[in-house]
Amino acid sequence: TEKPTALIMIFGATGDLAKRKLFPSLYRLYKRGKLSDRYAIIGVARRELTNDAFQKSVKTSIQAAIKDCDDLDSFVSHFYYHSHDVTDSSSYLSLKTMANDLDQHYQLDGNRIFYLAMAPEFFGTIAEHLKSDGLTEVSGFKRLVIEKPFGHDLESAKELNNQLRQAFSEDEVYRIDHYLGKEMVQNIEVIRFANAIFEPLWNNRYISNIQITSSEVLGVEERGRYYETSGALRDMVQNHMLQMVALLAMEPPIRLNTEEIRAEKVKVFRAMNMLEGEAVKENFVRGQYGRGTVDGVDVPAYREEQMVNPESNTETFVAGKLSIDTFRWKGVPFYIRTGKKMAAKSTKIVIQFKDIPMNLYYQTEKTLNPNLLVIHIQPEEGITLYLNAQKAGENVETTPVKLNFANSGIDGNTPEAYERLLYDCMRGDATNFTHWDEVSLSWSFVDKISEVWENTKAENFPNYEAGSMGPRKADELLEKDGFFWWPVD
Ligand code: NAD
Repeated sequence: TEKPTALIMIFGATGDLAKRKLFPSLYRLYKRGKLSDRYAIIGVARRELTNDAFQKSVKTSIQAAIKDCDDLDSFVSHFYYHSHDVTDSSSYLSLKTMANDLDQHYQLDGNRIFYLAMAPEFFGTIAEHLKSDGLTEVSGFKRLVIEKPFGHDLESAKELNNQLRQAFSEDEVYRIDHYLGKEMVQNIEVIRFANAIFEPLWNNRYISNIQITSSEVLGVEERGRYYETSGALRDMVQNHMLQMVALLAMEPPIRLNTEEIRAEKVKVFRAMNMLEGEAVKENFVRGQYGRGTVDGVDVPAYREEQMVNPESNTETFVAGKLSIDTFRWKGVPFYIRTGKKMAAKSTKIVIQFKDIPMNLYYQTEKTLNPNLLVIHIQPEEGITLYLNAQKAGENVETTPVKLNFANSGIDGNTPEAYERLLYDCMRGDATNFTHWDEVSLSWSFVDKISEVWENTKAENFPNYEAGSMGPRKADELLEKDGFFWWPVD
């Protein structure tokens, strides 16, 4: 396949995301031979920097992320810097001149990618200027990559989208949800649609419930100010958690292309039972961490973190029960939970199958374990299938067995999410980016929940200890239905 050629402009090139993810990912693509020699990067940020100093900082960030890196000098020689306050109209013209010169110099075919790795309040302004100052007038492709959060609710997301769409068409907008770049998230489809043994069982006749957990050990760290305006529902559920639900629940697409896959995901969002008022209280649980111990260290409560209101009502944990009202899923609860300062850093999906019609292997009151399919998203990557088998030498006594496939051991060679996503964008494959329809439907769902939460003070905050798996109420959510959260090990 032909190697993509493009000029990539990174807005926010001195920021955390650029340094920790974007530069190392671009370097990995280069090392793997996936970039053509015809590429150039312009880093844009406010601070004054020479090209030299910028190239040095790019090198330093790559060295911090990747053990053996050679060829760095020739790789970073394609990096340029433009000091530029994105709110200042006058600097877009010199940026345009720089871009046109590089386009000529490296023969970039007029292909341009604008990567907005900056605070979201600038997204709209930048897009508008790119158009009004002619940076989007190119002979090749133009694409806009945009980081989360995409809006704060449906209203603001619409407003942002309208601003972006003045300058870019829907198929030129690449909305990042980095979970969609993860190996095992992409594997959900493969597990489902490339195996004869799962898809026939993938419905309400054979699956009893699905549990998705994404727990973090970290708290809000230095991001208290942002987090106070967001909370776990907006930060994690609206995007990453609902995206995983969609991939698990969607119908097989007729083809594995962007349009077909997105269309099936959109149908899942449309079939999601909207919760309102009392139903929110019955089906969703919010939590906020108090003091506790994480990895043997005493840690403060959320309300004691920097830039956090000492009486904050912001949730750092969410658990919820979703219903998808389709022939396939009616009656199967999808439980999700996510939170900060929890016992383990882990993202995993547990698919619990229904019990067999009768158990021939009863020993007194002992029952069989249900079959589980566990998809480990991070930090381990792989799948485990839990079966029952007979213990060697024993008669009718069963023992659980684990069939394990670990996707690790390839030792750092699995591409990082950002590496895949950058490559996809360069090739023009938008499958693993979120379409506006997905964003708007998931905001509609989430807005109803925020509405209830914002209008009622959480009287029991903090309600879980740092270092635990969340509030008791999150366990009760499943217990009411006769289930429990399968332990994350
Ligand atoms: P950051 O604060 O570390 O970096 C911000 C960058 O924007 C800096 O380069 C700064 O110089 C530049 N900047 C700020 N104001 C400017 C202005 N007026 N003109 C020009 N440049 C200006 O932020 P970050 O953590 O890199 O995050 C960037 C985006 O990526 C955000 O939307 C964030 O939500 C998203 N994101 C970040 C991470 C992460 O791991 N850091 C993960 C997921 C998403």
